[in-house]
Amino acid sequence: MSEEEPAAPPDHTSAGLDREQLTEAKQYGRLGLICDLADKGIDLVFLALMALVVARPLDDGLARWSILADFESLRLVALLLITILLHVAVSFPLSLYSGHFLEHRFGLSKQTFRGWLWRYTKRCTLAVAFSAVIFLGLYWIIWLTGPWWWIVAAGGFFVVSVVLGQLTPVLIMPLFHKIEKLDMPELSQRLNRLAGGTGLSIEGVYRIVLSEETVKANAMLAGLGRTRRVLLGDTLLADFTPEEIEVIFAHEIGHHVCRHIRKMILSGMVYIAAGFWLCHGLLTAWVDWPGQSVDFHLLPVYTLPMVMFALTAFAMLLEPVQNFFSRRFERQSDRYALERTGAKEAYISAFQKLARQNKDDPDPHPLEVLLFHGHPPIAERLAMAERR
Ligand SMILES: [Zn+2]
Repeated sequence: MSEEEPAAPPDHTSAGLDREQLTEAKQYGRLGLICDLADKGIDLVFLALMALVVARPLDDGLARWSILADFESLRLVALLLITILLHVAVSFPLSLYSGHFLEHRFGLSKQTFRGWLWRYTKRCTLAVAFSAVIFLGLYWIIWLTGPWWWIVAAGGFFVVSVVLGQLTPVLIMPLFHKIEKLDMPELSQRLNRLAGGTGLSIEGVYRIVLSEETVKANAMLAGLGRTRRVLLGDTLLADFTPEEIEVIFAHEIGHHVCRHIRKMILSGMVYIAAGFWLCHGLLTAWVDWPGQSVDFHLLPVYTLPMVMFALTAFAMLLEPVQNFFSRRFERQSDRYALERTGAKEAYISAFQKLARQNKDDPDPHPLEVLLFHGHPPIAERLAMAERR
């Protein structure tokens, strides 16, 4: 007589993808990573060249116009505009490839070339306007507060983060996506039950139209205080069962209940203070100070690309640390979703569907996850659910 063996737990490393789907997801993941690394490389080399070679002669050239010579703020904005526009020109081919052609090659994009170009132009315009305000503000703080600028600037950064956190879902996201109240009474009722007692009102659940751009399914928590809301992609609402949507919604409630956005803003302030402090040291050593004494009240305009380079390099170095905490938050929210719904089967099928629909490599190399991923791999998330 043979003894009955206990059934082996299912292997989740492929997240239910067949061999062909898995190969495709891995290929898409690899190409995406190469693009990301190339983009970072271009950013660093470009900003280093601007800072070390171009900035001073360019600033001298700009100062020949008397109005720019008299008003340093205007010259700063002019230098910023030139830097950003040159950067856009240099990185455009890669942005086009990774944002448009790569997505089409893997059947993930639903945008025409014109549609993509329009969104890209809007994004760049917003980035230019936002950077102009931020860097002008930063230099005013430096010129006004001198040696303690980096602490004051970190405080300023905190205020900007809070304001942006509030405005993002109501002012910025609608520039790119249609966002509307969730008009699905039956589903709303189910979600309402789940949100009960968490302080998140069903009034704050929205449908975000992603399907004009992509086939990928997504959901997110955004906003602060009165603008706090859960956004469910129409791609998710169309293709997932109510049980699966509930689990994903519960994951977003997890972010809300565990106050992850607030924690990210507060830790962001610590990071940026460290970044500004390092920048302070770099500028002290690098700048030709008038009269040889270090005086940040007189920080020259040509230092702008160096500040941009230092902050970009620092952000890249810090990315693995931020990703480490982000993955922790995601695991916390996953556990919350499983506890709150008790729907392990729906959780597993939802993540298998996400892997399939988004061509998300379920089990990328651990080093890649460690350095670049803000979410745990789907294989890990499924294995976690299986253990419960
Ligand atoms: Zn999440």
